[in-house]
Amino acid sequence: MGLLAALGIDLPITVHREQIVLVDPGVDLGPVPVFSDLVSLQYVRPEASGEILFGNSDLARLEPADPDRYPNRADEDFLARAVEKLAARFPGLPDASVASTYAGCYDVTPDFNPVVSRTPVAGLVVAAGFSGHGFKISPAVGRLVADLVVDGVSADPLVPETDFRLSRFAQGALLRSPHPYVGAGEMR
Ligand SMILES: Cc1cc2nc3c(=O)[nH]c(=O)nc-3n(C[C@H](O)[C@H](O)[C@H](O)COP(=O)(O)OP(=O)(O)OC[C@H]3O[C@@H](n4cnc5c(N)ncnc54)[C@H](O)[C@@H]3O)c2cc1C
Repeated sequence: MGLLAALGIDLPITVHREQIVLVDPGVDLGPVPVFSDLVSLQYVRPEASGEILFGNSDLARLEPADPDRYPNRADEDFLARAVEKLAARFPGLPDASVASTYAGCYDVTPDFNPVVSRTPVAGLVVAAGFSGHGFKISPAVGRLVADLVVDGVSADPLVPETDFRLSRFAQGALLRSPHPYVGAGEMR
């Protein structure tokens, strides 16, 4: 944001803290799938160590943060909610315990979708504002960035470059999923 502001480009991204809990299941679970629970708004995935990573999918209330100074451990309230949700969804783990926690920052745009876009500055392409879900879409983002650099347009008709253009915010044309997860707040 700072880099672009110096060039007169407004990138409407806000920063929000998100917390993660690592759980020792207390038993060898074998292969654990990635699991998104859109009822209690949590997701879990296995860690190589055998622990289960718990993440929050309820983005109805965001916690603004300074990306250079934020508490990098989960707080007590979050931990209590995480334990309650996990116990409700995985009742068969009586010996589970919290192994560790950490926190990071989401770079959030007004529609929770990224900016992958050419800019008014010739040769400058932006890919930012992934709003907490940039990892899983990174292969498609890489392809779109390459297309924008080389041709200025997307080669994939399923990923039109207009969807992710920077100018959509100034135009009030936010990108909305035609198939949102009902009840999952701003989660995509
Ligand atoms: C707690 C948490 C859980 C997440 N879970 C998921 C998930 O389950 N699935 C998913 O898809 N996504 C998830 N994400 C989001 C995903 O991690 C991000 O969307 C993705 O990493 C964004 O990639 P990026 O390249 O835009 O930014 P980053 O990965 O942040 O990369 C930016 C890089 O720029 C560097 N940098 C910054 N300033 C400068 C500077 N001035 N000069 C040089 N280098 C600089 C930084 O050091 C960093 O390496 C999660 C994020 C968090 C915080």
